[in-house]
Amino acid sequence: MNKLHLHLANLDHNFGLIRKQLSSNTAIFGVVKAWAYGSDMIKIAKRLEQIGVDYLAVAYAEEGKILREGGINIPILVFYPQIKGLQAIIDYKLEPSLYSTLLLEKFRCLLKQKKSKHYPVHIKYNTGLNRVGFNPNQANWVLEQFKEEEFDLKTVYSHLATSESSENKTNNSKQIKTFLALKKQHEDNANSNPKFHLLNSSGIFKNTKYEFDAVRCGIALHGFSNYPHLDQKLKPLASLHTIISQIHMVKKGDNVGYDLGWKASKDSIIATLPIGHADGIGRHFGNEKAWVSVNGISAPIVGNVCMDMIMIDVSGISCKEEDIVVVFGPDQNASEFAISAGTISYEVLSGIGPRVKRIIHS
Ligand SMILES: *Cc1c(COP(=O)(O)O)cnc(C)c1O
Repeated sequence: MNKLHLHLANLDHNFGLIRKQLSSNTAIFGVVKAWAYGSDMIKIAKRLEQIGVDYLAVAYAEEGKILREGGINIPILVFYPQIKGLQAIIDYKLEPSLYSTLLLEKFRCLLKQKKSKHYPVHIKYNTGLNRVGFNPNQANWVLEQFKEEEFDLKTVYSHLATSESSENKTNNSKQIKTFLALKKQHEDNANSNPKFHLLNSSGIFKNTKYEFDAVRCGIALHGFSNYPHLDQKLKPLASLHTIISQIHMVKKGDNVGYDLGWKASKDSIIATLPIGHADGIGRHFGNEKAWVSVNGISAPIVGNVCMDMIMIDVSGISCKEEDIVVVFGPDQNASEFAISAGTISYEVLSGIGPRVKRIIHS
């Protein structure tokens, strides 16, 4: 009944558009973490491999393992491997981001035990997001670590805190300045010869000047750049469909849903849809914050979102039980749906629950 339709032709289109945006020798990391933003990680990764992505990237080692078991052969960067994930990194030929002394030393220990040499690794610096990464003042220590031959330093990277917003450019440029200094430090040091990358999707469309050797691209592959004017050129991959389970006539003054969340101000027609917060429609979408599309007409979500269901007001809309309802799709994309409830496309897409069937259209 609930289906997330995924149009791979749109992935091809978005990838092509991103490719065109960049200089031809800039590599693309296709970011497929979190089940490829809630879609289908293996199918998306396979398609990206086919259309020529240079690298894949995931958040955790377990995700890389699933990709390898699914038959993916191209290099996979793991952004946040965790100490517990290091063994899987080696077992599945994944490439870790090393972002702390503890993680780096543990990984080297493991490589020494296995007498493994020249293992491909990546160094992440914290230039201002204050999430993960070596402090820039640790760069000398980091550089020292590449004297020995356990590691082959593939890339050095950082992540911008404000690549999305047009304000707060100062912070962005502060981070860029710090990154440029780190880049120089690494280039001046003979212990390694890495490539450099900084930008995610929104950076690709805004700061191509700083594309360096590669970009890391996730949400733009799914059709969103975080800039509404550019979203028109990209094509959303996903449409979320449900159906009408039941229709009720309610009288003026009647309530709908838990905690009497909605009260009919006039006689109304209410449709119940079998999709709820367990499927990724969080409670913040309820109480007329968001709408869905019923036979091309928008119908507000009324009352509180339940675990398995939502109710919508279909007064004046021609519809019947079993009709298809589009939660997001051509009439309103996932980003617009997200914004209506004060969230972002990333949260809506990655939060779509496992009960929703993924349908691939190649
Ligand atoms: C998730 C992630 C990305 C991808 O970001 P998008 O905005 O989806 O392109 C890039 N880099 C890092 C470090 C990430 O964690």
